[in-house]
Amino acid sequence: MSLEKLPIHETFYSLQGEGAHTGTPAHFIRLAGCDVGCVWCDVKDSWDIAEEQYHTIGSIVDEAKTSASEVVIVTGGEPTIHSLVALTSELKEAGKKTHIETAGTSELTGEWDWICFSPKKFKKPLPSIYGKAHELKVVVFHPTDIQWAEEHASKINSDCKLFLQLEWSKKEKLFPIVFEYIKNNPRWQLSVQTHKYLSID
Ligand code: SF4
Repeated sequence: MSLEKLPIHETFYSLQGEGAHTGTPAHFIRLAGCDVGCVWCDVKDSWDIAEEQYHTIGSIVDEAKTSASEVVIVTGGEPTIHSLVALTSELKEAGKKTHIETAGTSELTGEWDWICFSPKKFKKPLPSIYGKAHELKVVVFHPTDIQWAEEHASKINSDCKLFLQLEWSKKEKLFPIVFEYIKNNPRWQLSVQTHKYLSID
């Protein structure tokens, strides 16, 4: 059991609210620390790291083991700013499926069963993430973000699932545009933030 430590913003057992695994029960590990700085970020309090947030990987994995689901979703913050080798290795040893949500801005480490790549305009992703992602999820904050999403899709694996997700504060205004776009470009799907509609934490 590793004594290496990672900073935790929060952990919780819930349902995946968005993207390819919407509705799937999962234990969430939200790591602290982010260097991306999205203006519309809904977890800005996860950006900074305090000394008391560090926990041993052994204790983080012990907690994950108590959840009934085999799925563990590592998110942030931006989780790739940390080495995730020991965390994923211990989660796999515990029989868990490891999922990550990342903007791909730092080199991805660790062993992953599902990689959700969500690029952000505020910091360029590294080229290495494009060949690894299982899911590309682009937040649409402005109509021009759809073209920006296509630029990322042109570099991604051919079997990667493609999602457009309305930025929460713009969803009413942008839904008609995204709705028409997906109907005309059916390799894309709509990712709906179900946890926000249903007030699921
Ligand atoms: Fe927030 Fe995620 Fe953007 Fe970081 S990458 S600023 S945590 S939305």
